[in-house]
Amino acid sequence: MIDYTTILNTIHKEASTSKSKGEIATYIPELSKIDVNKFGIHLIDKDKNEFSSGDAQEKFSIQSISKVLSLSLVLSLIGEDLWKRVDVEPSGDPFNHLSLLELENGIPRNPLINAGAIVVADILISKLKNPKENFLTFIQDISGDKSINFDEKVAQSEKETGFNNYAAANLLKSYGNLKNDVDTVLDFYFHQCSLTMTCAQLTKVFFIFMNRGKCLQNKTYLTTSQVKRINAIMLTCGFYDEAGEFAFEVGLPGKSGVGGGIVALLPNHFCVATWSPGLNKKGNSKLGMLALERLTTETQQSIF
Ligand code: GLN
Repeated sequence: MIDYTTILNTIHKEASTSKSKGEIATYIPELSKIDVNKFGIHLIDKDKNEFSSGDAQEKFSIQSISKVLSLSLVLSLIGEDLWKRVDVEPSGDPFNHLSLLELENGIPRNPLINAGAIVVADILISKLKNPKENFLTFIQDISGDKSINFDEKVAQSEKETGFNNYAAANLLKSYGNLKNDVDTVLDFYFHQCSLTMTCAQLTKVFFIFMNRGKCLQNKTYLTTSQVKRINAIMLTCGFYDEAGEFAFEVGLPGKSGVGGGIVALLPNHFCVATWSPGLNKKGNSKLGMLALERLTTETQQSIF
């Protein structure tokens, strides 16, 4: 039996004393108010035992982590048709780069870069009656937690400064890969990114990716094949141009967000979330990556 409590406490202690914590994302003004010293880590295993250290019960902006959730909902709604509009190759580029999109005629490299997630948002808007509400309900259902919600302030803040995402959406529109209007799609996208969760909540939402599509309450939302594909995309694309480094150091499928969160999982074993708002140069949580490297090295558990 692995002593997760001791391991998580050691990781937390190391993180608290670390001098170089990375930089807060300031391009979304509302995120710049967060204390760089926050650090939380939470793990849930397949038997639903939970282990925690630090600020694991404090809510933060999950940002791009939400892209895995919109991808999951879209796959459950339209299945493989999605791949006509988004590819599944790592981009090797930062999350917000536009050059490949133009080169590849408006087909985003994968659903976890911004352009890909914007196409996914467009499909959800076409398919759902009340897109934002239905998306939120999906997340509340898979986690069994009705308290999860959007943060209107963060959504509004990103709307005011989201010029790069407006550029991506307009480019997609010019290639015919956006059916709804740019403002409607970005309103959805900014809201999905504004979802706030604690590390503990994140592990419960992502439990289904560790548990072959079955949520904490044992209800099935995704097929085993869909979960395989989603985990493969997380592994190859979840950290943008640092996906190789994350696979190399941590060895788990996972996803980061510029709010400083990372969630990662070992299929059929555990799901873990970290929060440390300081980012490295590639936009991924600096201490979060180090923490997960320690976890998989100490416990000798990874997909490899
Ligand atoms: N909402 C952010 C953006 O579109 C998400 C980026 C991220 O978390 N990597 O820029």
